[in-house]
Amino acid sequence: MLAENTQLRLITKRLYKTLCSLKSNNSDKVKGRWESDLGSTIDPEVWNALCGQRSGPLASYSAWERQFKSVHRLYITPEVRHKFNPDLTEHCTKCQSAVGTFFHCLWSCPHVQQCWFIIIQQLNIIFKRSLYIGAGTCLLGLNNEQPAGFKKRDLLHILLHCARKCFLVMWITDKAPTIHCIQ
Ligand SMILES: [Zn+2]
Repeated sequence: MLAENTQLRLITKRLYKTLCSLKSNNSDKVKGRWESDLGSTIDPEVWNALCGQRSGPLASYSAWERQFKSVHRLYITPEVRHKFNPDLTEHCTKCQSAVGTFFHCLWSCPHVQQCWFIIIQQLNIIFKRSLYIGAGTCLLGLNNEQPAGFKKRDLLHILLHCARKCFLVMWITDKAPTIHCIQ
């Protein structure tokens, strides 16, 4: 009995260690993809906070789940779908020319960029200032692009979360998102 318990404890310990290392490797990989797409490094502490427990302005479970899936790129892209089924195109369903990567579909696609441009214009009207709001802020909710004295960060991230939600609803449709989806 004692031997069985010891063996079980050892197995559990080993399994836990393996799962932790898998989580950490995968998270590092995703972080690397974001850094490559954004063209800048993400502070490890900021990354850990993004991957951590729900907190801040996105307090509801559904909002946090959506945020978690976005941060970890868990939405199936045309690029990934093509790997599962080569009969399906790897191209973006909206512009139908570039490969439908996660970053392309949510940010750099010209059809999506048009809508982001209008959203950012509207945010600058709401906040009555000219903020630089790039992909790091819009997609990940990073704070490093806003000036230190900007006090309405929570509202900014809530509004951007609403925008992302609309983009994700139209994720693999051929229709381009418009500002009317968000209003
Ligand atoms: Zn596209």
